[in-house]
Amino acid sequence: AQLFETEPAATKAVAYAQVALEQGIDTAPTGLTYAVPAALADLKPGERVRVPLGRGNKPTNGFVVELHDTSALPSVKNIKPIIERDRHGVSLTPELISLAKWIASYYCCPLGMVFATMLPAAVKKGTGSVTRTMVGLAAAPEGRPTKLSKLQQAILDTATTRAAADHPWTEIKELADLAGARSVSPVKQLLDKGLLTTHREEEVRSDLDLRAQRAVGELDPLVLNAAQQTALDHLINHLDEGFGVHLLHGVTGSGKTEVYLRAIERVMANAHANGSDHPPSAIVLVPEIALTPQTVGRFLERFEQTNVAVLHSGLTAAQRHAQWRRIRRGEANIVIGARSAIFAPLSNLRLIIVDEEHESSYKQDQAPRYHGRDVAIKRAHLAGIPVVLGSATPSLEMYYKVSGSEFRVSSSGEATSHDTTQNSKLETRNYHLIRLPDRAPGMKMPQVEIIDLSDERRKRYEITGKAGVHLLSLALERALTQTLKDSGQTMLLLNRRGFANYIACPDQRCGWLMRCHYCDVTMVYHKDERLPTGGVVRCHHCEAEQTLPSTCPDCKKNITTFGLGTQRVEEELARKFPDARVTRMDADSMRHGRDYQQCLDAFRAGEIDILVGTQMIAKGLDFPNVRLVGVINADTALNLPDFRAAERTFQLIAQVAGRAGRSDKPGRVLVQTFSPHDPSIQLAAKHDFESFAERELQQRAAVGLPPIGRMARIVVRDKDHYACAERAQTLATQMQQFNADAGGQVRLRGPMPCPIARIADYHRQQIEMLAASAGPLQTLLTATRNSGLLRADQHVAVDVDPVALL
Ligand code: ADP
Ligand code: ZN
Ligand code: ZN
Repeated sequence: AQLFETEPAATKAVAYAQVALEQGIDTAPTGLTYAVPAALADLKPGERVRVPLGRGNKPTNGFVVELHDTSALPSVKNIKPIIERDRHGVSLTPELISLAKWIASYYCCPLGMVFATMLPAAVKKGTGSVTRTMVGLAAAPEGRPTKLSKLQQAILDTATTRAAADHPWTEIKELADLAGARSVSPVKQLLDKGLLTTHREEEVRSDLDLRAQRAVGELDPLVLNAAQQTALDHLINHLDEGFGVHLLHGVTGSGKTEVYLRAIERVMANAHANGSDHPPSAIVLVPEIALTPQTVGRFLERFEQTNVAVLHSGLTAAQRHAQWRRIRRGEANIVIGARSAIFAPLSNLRLIIVDEEHESSYKQDQAPRYHGRDVAIKRAHLAGIPVVLGSATPSLEMYYKVSGSEFRVSSSGEATSHDTTQNSKLETRNYHLIRLPDRAPGMKMPQVEIIDLSDERRKRYEITGKAGVHLLSLALERALTQTLKDSGQTMLLLNRRGFANYIACPDQRCGWLMRCHYCDVTMVYHKDERLPTGGVVRCHHCEAEQTLPSTCPDCKKNITTFGLGTQRVEEELARKFPDARVTRMDADSMRHGRDYQQCLDAFRAGEIDILVGTQMIAKGLDFPNVRLVGVINADTALNLPDFRAAERTFQLIAQVAGRAGRSDKPGRVLVQTFSPHDPSIQLAAKHDFESFAERELQQRAAVGLPPIGRMARIVVRDKDHYACAERAQTLATQMQQFNADAGGQVRLRGPMPCPIARIADYHRQQIEMLAASAGPLQTLLTATRNSGLLRADQHVAVDVDPVALL
């Protein structure tokens, strides 16, 4: 009997907890069962804990999902006790637990992994946090009153005064100082006597000064134009109606931000709308790249600085931690941030805004592969609040939802139109479209001209007698000259970095082309004058580097490099416009957030005449002096092996064109292409989103592609080619069976090699799933997941609603 006495006493379970582990073990949907030791009797769902795992009882982190009392004792053997709670007391709110459950189920990802994603890494690590020992009056002093020294009495009096003034806790040294004691020993004596007590307080030190980021100027409140007013009225009318999705389709420069600001103001003013103790709060999601001090500054300027928190990768770890803490403690109630800010632990959330909702960077490319916008919609749904999605080029997913059921999957696609059930009709009723068709007062839409590059080639040949590719057409060259002369600024877009993306043997009979050793892609030449070799050859998928060979390894002829890249544009500009100040902005030249910031500041200050860059320059930037925008080659996106190629092309052109003409001076946009008649280019030039969307939706409907049909994709990868093929085949066979059992509503394709069949030495096979609606896809994925075939490991990746198909 002795033997059994001690052990259970220490771990006497008052309850059992379901704990989802961060390392993502895909077991029961709500995690593993652990016993709650008596010391943790006040444990709550959402708390982060350490638990033993496996035979070795290795401590690992997880989150409490549910608590059960002993009457609901789960039938699990060998229940181990929870070790301890998180040292920093990190916990998630009940709303976030519900959201995590949905994400885990919809995106096929272990629940614990979703929880881990919800917290910034800095919060989990406790970066920058310091614990201070504070002293204060003991609640009920024990024992007989003792005689106190003068200093001791002074200290006690000081502590009493401070407690009365709502400062119950003071640092030891500070308390001694305040009471006029020269050392801390009288404080210690009072602690020994039990008249004072200690308390450990955690604080995150960070030096983020949001005040410094406040926007200057623009202090006069704008007068809304008629369209903005209508949009705002619409939103205000729906603010108290519960869940609703409001797509704000406003052309570039139409003043969407002002509408967001007013809507938030309105929400904040209505403090007691729903009887909550917490002040109302709001989240604003912005793509990472558009989270510039200017964007954030507009919000900071409008709302009391202390109310706003920012969350993005430009912050240091400690700053991010400090921001998260402020939000969790309710000190900030407006959060502006990138994708993961949708997990901000706010209470009484009343409004969510997703700016540039079409941005594919809202999709996370590792598990959980969630879409920030779609999670925003779900969070709004769970909270029963409106969500505003803004874009000049709405995603077809959202446009389809708001434009109702005009588009049906045709009978040629296997998916049918009969799927428009009661449910989806109900859903579309919650979706609204608001338009801002014109630019803000004083700005006109830029005029877009299409330049046919084949034509251009001929003209050049006639003039120079030489064939060859010129990056700048005659028209673009003339426009550049004129813009420089008028002291205007230019942005040139080329969606490919490096100098040349082909390194090849000039002899076509030989046909050697330099490829990555580890990926099925060609290597890209990056010039670098600082290197003795003059440059480096790099793979854009695995970052492997090689030196540039001078001769063909097969036939020893001197190699050539061709193809476009931003470096080549930069070089050509230096040659043709030696006096112009040119800066290149791409992932190579902008290694840190601060490089990007400096470059934008310099451009704003007029220190740069021509900014050359990848899509980085196309995003949401507002520079009044940009009079010319050139698209060097609109075909780069058009030729991607992706059903969204046309949509991406339209977005890219419309967005970059939107950078021009943001002042009273008109803007000009020149788009160079070998496909001048392509509808996505033509319609982008006419700023005609509606026609483009309708055309594209018809085409997608005809073949059952998203957004009319729904898609999911599984990628199997393995360093061993056969293991990869075999695993993909097993999976596909099993899935076909599950699908047939469930009525065969999903179209399954594959296994087949991915468009890039090998990356970083991993062979890649894919299985593609298409269905008329999300339901059958979820059914199939759940069945497959329950069979244990989708264990989240490094070999299998599930992507629901994929946005990139490489
Ligand atoms: P969008 O986000 O739709 O591209 P912004 O919100 O950035 O547009 O607004 C573009 C510019 O127009 C900003 O400089 C903004 O200050 C200005 N602006 C917005 N609304 C008005 C208005 N009603 N009157 C005057 N200027 C406005
Ligand atoms: Zn590679
Ligand atoms: Zn050769």
